[in-house]
Amino acid sequence: MYKQVLHDHLDGGLRPSTAKELAKRTNYKPINDINDVANFFDRSSSTSLEDYLEAFTHTIALMQSYSNLEQIAYEAAVDMYQNDINFYESRYAPFYSVNDDLSPKDVLTAINSGFKQAENEFGIVSGLILCGMRHDPDNVKAVAELAIEYKELIIGFDIAGPELNYLPSMYKDSFLKVKNEGINITIHAGEGDGVQSIQEALDNGAKRIGHGVRIIEDISDNNELGPTADRILQNNIPLEVCITSNLHTNMYKNPQDHPISRLHNLGFNISLNTDNRLMSNTSIDNELNVAKAAGIENPTSLLKYSASDSFLN
Ligand SMILES: [Zn+2]
Repeated sequence: MYKQVLHDHLDGGLRPSTAKELAKRTNYKPINDINDVANFFDRSSSTSLEDYLEAFTHTIALMQSYSNLEQIAYEAAVDMYQNDINFYESRYAPFYSVNDDLSPKDVLTAINSGFKQAENEFGIVSGLILCGMRHDPDNVKAVAELAIEYKELIIGFDIAGPELNYLPSMYKDSFLKVKNEGINITIHAGEGDGVQSIQEALDNGAKRIGHGVRIIEDISDNNELGPTADRILQNNIPLEVCITSNLHTNMYKNPQDHPISRLHNLGFNISLNTDNRLMSNTSIDNELNVAKAAGIENPTSLLKYSASDSFLN
């Protein structure tokens, strides 16, 4: 039976050993000077979003060349393969890696080249979702245009970054353009903001919701569904759930408080995902354990490939 991961950020998943190696190669001091790189990146006890996000400035600093991007993409796919995953959807904000020597197309080509190597060696199939950064409207627009121009090199379009105060409707023109080109859309919603954000994600063409767990706020204590929750359930919209990530951004104190089990019991379409393996010190194997602690009896079943959910088709 096939297993898939739908939600994992390329810049959040470097191997600590690779971060060390690439920092040495490019003489990147902030990491060069550190012995325990895994611990440096581990933001599981971070108290603020700023502290959590600061870690990404260092991974992105190591993603500024073709060969580095290729290696990071290759290793991400191999690491997923080693967790028994067959289909891996990775996501990245491409303009973070664009510089004088690296065009947007180079960025996409390098990542795909790494994925292809892993596929040739291990059979794991991977694809890239492009993220626009929602706090930067020009960036969202540019990423949407890039997605359309190179749609054969990507499998989907997303917006990431701070959700609160940046509702999906702010980018409705970009979503419409992307949708009209037949590009799949998933949107981070229901993590840093609530039901309205999820509602707007659906209204703007999202076929899946990144996180989406705050849909629980549209469900009453005696399990009566509000209109948005009902729409998600009736249309079997997949929620890309990332439990450890939610714990680390202080949404829930422990796995038992996470709504995954309640949503699963109500029949919602739930997948298990890693979000940021490096910063959250997690893996799919770990997420299976955390899901069990959160009350999911057979977490592996949530990884099972369901053709309608994957953008890799
Ligand atoms: Zn995410």
